[in-house]
Amino acid sequence: MPNIIIIGGGLAGMAAASALVSSGTRVTLLESRPRLGGRASSFVDQTTGTTIDNCQHVNLGCCTNFRHFCEVTGIGNELRTEPSITFIGPNDRAHILAASPWPAPLHLLPSFARLSYLTWYDKWRLAWGLRALAHRRNAGSNELMSDWLRRHRQTPNTIQRVWQVVLVSALSESLDRIAVKDARKVFVDAFLANRHGWELQIPTAPLDTLYTHSVGDWLRGQRVDVLLSTGVSRVIMTGERATGVELRDGRILAADEIILAVPSFSVAALLPEQIAALPVIQGLKQLEWAPISSVHLWFDRPIMPLPHATLVDRLSQWVFDRGVVNAPTGDVANYYQVVISASRDLEGREQSDIIRDVVTELTAIWPMSNGCRLIHGRVVTEHKACLSMLPQNEALRPGSQSPISNVSFAGDWTATGWPSTMEGAVRSGYLAAENVARHLGEAKRFVQPDLPVSWLARVLLGI
Ligand SMILES: Cc1cc2nc3c(=O)[nH]c(=O)nc-3n(C[C@H](O)[C@H](O)[C@H](O)COP(=O)(O)OP(=O)(O)OC[C@H]3O[C@@H](n4cnc5c(N)ncnc54)[C@H](O)[C@@H]3O)c2cc1C
Repeated sequence: MPNIIIIGGGLAGMAAASALVSSGTRVTLLESRPRLGGRASSFVDQTTGTTIDNCQHVNLGCCTNFRHFCEVTGIGNELRTEPSITFIGPNDRAHILAASPWPAPLHLLPSFARLSYLTWYDKWRLAWGLRALAHRRNAGSNELMSDWLRRHRQTPNTIQRVWQVVLVSALSESLDRIAVKDARKVFVDAFLANRHGWELQIPTAPLDTLYTHSVGDWLRGQRVDVLLSTGVSRVIMTGERATGVELRDGRILAADEIILAVPSFSVAALLPEQIAALPVIQGLKQLEWAPISSVHLWFDRPIMPLPHATLVDRLSQWVFDRGVVNAPTGDVANYYQVVISASRDLEGREQSDIIRDVVTELTAIWPMSNGCRLIHGRVVTEHKACLSMLPQNEALRPGSQSPISNVSFAGDWTATGWPSTMEGAVRSGYLAAENVARHLGEAKRFVQPDLPVSWLARVLLGI
């Protein structure tokens, strides 16, 4: 029975393992940390003793592979699909984005038409811009989105209050660091092609419960050896082929196939010098990443009447109600997470400053927060949260085949055709599993199809 070693227990590694369980192989998943989930994981906040996610992670309906992974591993019921998304405009008014009965791409049109913080001229320019973006000629465009928006005469209002709000949330980057083709993908897949693409899915349990416990147990039940706190120090080669891995504690594990599902910046150190020197591996060091900050707030009472909100024209981009938890005082607290993507501007600022600004924004919006007391707050910044969707990055993303014949790559940084998201990570894991199956002489398809494009989207937009 072939021995497959997967290095890295993030979503890419877990997805690869989940796909390979039925392939008549022996699968070992090695993760250096004491938990699964990688960048989508939880930790214990020492002050409150609560297990909190490093950041709220959300999924969209168009992410078919992530959804498939959750269903297969038994955590599908732990994702709640929101019936609508609430935008809080600069005027503090709430606007509900919800699908009308009209078919895609018109299903969200009534909601957009009601946005009070856009003029009718803005709305007309926006509709025109969306139609132009959806056009096939933009599918391979390396132009930057900021230039494209100027060229397509989008108004400052539409840029700041629609394009930026959607793209910074979806791609975790500023508009001057996003290629047009990636922006197009977001709007086409999430908003135009299928009426379910935009639907927001929110985990109902901490990420640690989902991945370390539920998925970890599921994998073990499928006879995958899941070894936590087991870092790999190098891939061992005999001649042209990899024959195993050396662990950080000196142990050696033999392998017929290896999947490297570690972050791109950790790849070179695991490979022999002559392989690490190849341009494809050196190129990984040039990949640029974007930071995401999350502000965690514990109040003595509820401060908003919604499960989540998208805030327009503010420092805080999204706020999520994470329910009632223990407070450091022993009482209970209402816990909220605020997400700030592409958070370079926060660099060098004191945590207390950031928390003060965010709390001021939130309490100004919702009168029910009057008189609330902040019990505890903290800011968590992941400096390399997501790959920047820069055109030059795209050329550096390798496919799943590494320069070593029996070593495959997986990770949200590989060339999946998707941005670096949970969906991109799961796709990369499935692609790596397909690559391994190919090496073993089997043609298997693990990657799931996209949502179907509606007939009207085909006719109106030529998608
Ligand atoms: C703050 C933040 C917010 C985000 N929000 C969202 C969101 O809302 N929606 C969304 O879709 N995506 C979001 N993302 C992106 C998403 O989390 C990532 O795209 C995805 O989790 C990447 O998975 P991965 O498996 O490719 O990599 P990783 O999660 O980085 O996994 C790699 C794993 O390899 C392990 N490893 C490294 N070296 C070794 C070694 N030598 N031996 C053994 N193991 C090793 C690491 O410990 C890690 O667990 C967010 C990311 C961050 C950081």
